[in-house]
Amino acid sequence: MSYTITLIPGDGIGPEVAEAARRCIDATGLKIEWEEVTAGQVALDKYGELLPQAVIDSIKRNRIALKGPIITPIGTGFRSVNVAIRHALDLYACLRPAKSYAGVKSLYKDIDLVVVRENSEDLYAGIEFEEARPETLALIKDIEKYTRKKIRADSGLSIKPISKFASERIARFAFEYALGNGRKKVTAVHKANIMKFTDGLFLRAAREVAKEYEGKVLFEEAIVDNMCMQLVQKPHNFDVLLLPNLYGDILSDLCAGLIGGLGIAPGANIGEGIAVFEAVHGSAPKYAGKNKVNPTAMILSGVLLLRYLKETKAAQRLENAVKEVIKEGKYVTYDLKPNRDDPTSVGTQEMADAIIARMK
Ligand code: NAD
Repeated sequence: MSYTITLIPGDGIGPEVAEAARRCIDATGLKIEWEEVTAGQVALDKYGELLPQAVIDSIKRNRIALKGPIITPIGTGFRSVNVAIRHALDLYACLRPAKSYAGVKSLYKDIDLVVVRENSEDLYAGIEFEEARPETLALIKDIEKYTRKKIRADSGLSIKPISKFASERIARFAFEYALGNGRKKVTAVHKANIMKFTDGLFLRAAREVAKEYEGKVLFEEAIVDNMCMQLVQKPHNFDVLLLPNLYGDILSDLCAGLIGGLGIAPGANIGEGIAVFEAVHGSAPKYAGKNKVNPTAMILSGVLLLRYLKETKAAQRLENAVKEVIKEGKYVTYDLKPNRDDPTSVGTQEMADAIIARMK
């Protein structure tokens, strides 16, 4: 079978890690045509737009993309190209596995968690009101009228919409993922004790969906602050974590920290029959163009892509090669060496070469 996959190199370290991942995926021997499109700073310089329509059209056509991280330039009025892509394609589920690999310096061993983050609403919906603008002042007045609560006149406002529809949809995704991937438990993470009408709704939706999976997948609830402590103290007690957008974003980085850092944390944004695969990390501008950073997170995002395509053998071969190279610890980037100044660390492309060599 042959595939056409949209490739968005991104900016900062994006092009380097995307190239490394593309080469590793190609080395599995699958027939893949990469349709390269540009978004982010490069697209802004070239086409005057951060997110050209051609990018969305390409992903819509191919239904699958591999994406490097993209910087959000400050002061353009555009919030985030990454969030815009997720919204434009309704990629409502963000899947971020956090798995320990032998050879990675980390406080814990044998972590195997999966973060399922709602991707379409919450404080990431981008509904914001700047301080002192007439519409903000009018909204403050209305809120005060309806709630009888005082808001300082010089406040900015961010709106947190959480719907029953999106909460049920992501809860079902989490349970289906658990069921389809031999997972035992889903833990819904919330702050429903304080935000009764948003997090409360999210939690009630999760409880309702959980009933459909009774006897097949366990269900648990945890308040987000307590969850952070429990994840640090006893991460092995957890399996699949189900979270609204903002908590999901924060806890993904926490989980990346549990397994040894952002350099090895992959991710996927999934909608109805459409998916964009990208690392959890950002564009790390200070390392751009240095062939220095770890390509593993992007390569493992490629493993998720292959699994999504049901190319299980290719996915396993690539993951095994990554595992072996990391375990051996010889041809790895600086962040995977015991000492970050280790002169034997290799560059981004050389680590990819070592992974490719392992697949032969
Ligand atoms: P970042 O993830 O880019 O980098 C933070 C630090 O993590 C780096 O300085 C580096 O020490 C480490 N790191 C990240 N990736 C690594 C890798 N592959 N190998 C080794 N070390 C790695 O976070 P940031 O500096 O907060 O964000 C930079 C830019 O990226 C911002 O413009 C932000 O908006 C954007 N961003 C984009 C995405 C995305 O494209 N999905 C995600 C997060 C942040």
